Amino acid sequence: MLPFKLVYSDAYYLPIGTHVFPAEKYRRIRDRLIATGIAETSDFIEPQPATDQDILLVHKPEYVQKLTTGTLSPREEMEMEIPYSRELVDAFWLAAGGSILAARQALSDKVSISIGGGFHHAFPDHGEGFCMVHDVAVAIRRLQRDDKIRTAMTVDCDVHQGNGTASIFAGTRTASALLPSSSASTVEQPKNAPRGKMRGAHAGDVFTISLHQHNNYPLWKPPSSIDVDLPDGCGDDDYLAWLDNALSSGLRQFEPDLICYVAGADPYREDQLGGLDLTINGLKKRDELVFRVARARDIPVMVTFAGGYAQNVEDTVTIHSNTVIVAKEIFQR
Ligand SMILES: [Zn+2]
Repeated sequence: MLPFKLVYSDAYYLPIGTHVFPAEKYRRIRDRLIATGIAETSDFIEPQPATDQDILLVHKPEYVQKLTTGTLSPREEMEMEIPYSRELVDAFWLAAGGSILAARQALSDKVSISIGGGFHHAFPDHGEGFCMVHDVAVAIRRLQRDDKIRTAMTVDCDVHQGNGTASIFAGTRTASALLPSSSASTVEQPKNAPRGKMRGAHAGDVFTISLHQHNNYPLWKPPSSIDVDLPDGCGDDDYLAWLDNALSSGLRQFEPDLICYVAGADPYREDQLGGLDLTINGLKKRDELVFRVARARDIPVMVTFAGGYAQNVEDTVTIHSNTVIVAKEIFQR
């Protein structure tokens, strides 16, 4: 039995037809974890969909109404890059409910993983890049509303910048005497700095970190608290050095009650929508680093899976399953 819960539902499946996003990955990850004996059926818990009130903690009423009544404009649907349907709305509401449940579980068990979610390109007033609603932001706002947490830190390791996350939490940023100024010089560069660039900005009650490929979607990258713009072809060692640095820099500036780790599988070298050069083992070390830091500082961590478009879907399933294996190794002791 795992020392934490996996949040999953068969209804996480996104009804988007033939698409570069492998919507069947969630079920395949679950099946793999059970078939390999990593998890038992009793390790999985089933989420309830978020309520409209939960979604409205992050999203604009006009946008939520368009989603629930099926009145998005053709342009808005195109920007989302997934075909609108009422069933798809249900799947996204469930993903948000799954992230709320995973965040709550993390507070009691130190860690929890939702075998889904991580829709970091959703904005308050529109969806884009395969993301309709921002499940992680909804979870953070719901737990804050319930007085379960005061602050949170997002650690986004998907190959694409977390533009929705940055935009949603930018509004809460206020100048604070406790935080250094927003100049990039306050962010320390790693020793023997590998190629890449790190930028810093003020944080409010949610500190956002994004490590991503610079030359990739989204074109416009609204500033996160820390953005690490990685060059094309960045490999394991440089990536891990940047991640280590971004985490220590972030945790020097900010004390989160919860870490929301967006564990995208798309920094993988064989990803169809990514241009970094991480190996499956490098991605495992990435997970290990995040979990070790969280564990050492006793900060609960909730995980969502976000993107993953490997040529071979089995690789994507392996990368996500490894996140569970690594969490098991680190949190068992
Ligand atoms: Zn991605």
